[in-house]
Amino acid sequence: MRAVPPALAILDDDGEQVVLDAEEADRLFALTDGLDGATVSACPRCRCRILAAVALVDLLNGAPALAASGALVELADDAPTLHLYMRDLASGCAHRRWLDPGHDEWAEAIADLVTRRGPV
Ligand SMILES: [Zn+2]
Repeated sequence: MRAVPPALAILDDDGEQVVLDAEEADRLFALTDGLDGATVSACPRCRCRILAAVALVDLLNGAPALAASGALVELADDAPTLHLYMRDLASGCAHRRWLDPGHDEWAEAIADLVTRRGPV
């Protein structure tokens, strides 16, 4: 593995995860139009968001391939629920402006997953 700090983690409800470095994360956002088509709910100030697994697969299949595309499609295909949870590891955002109910779902899922598997 490269010695680049992880910037973004995408987790499913089982705690499976794909981690991207900052460059891969930027490419992912650039190539998928900010993941708009797959975003269920998102923090307006960072990249933390809930993604719809099926829509994410569609987005990735329609975008130029990334190093992480295969792993992300696999994660989404195998996800036990319809949602994936993206964590912005590089931001210290407290998500105070993420006001819709998605925030609660995201925060609960992440708290649960992080407790279960330890910090990324
Ligand atoms: Zn945030």
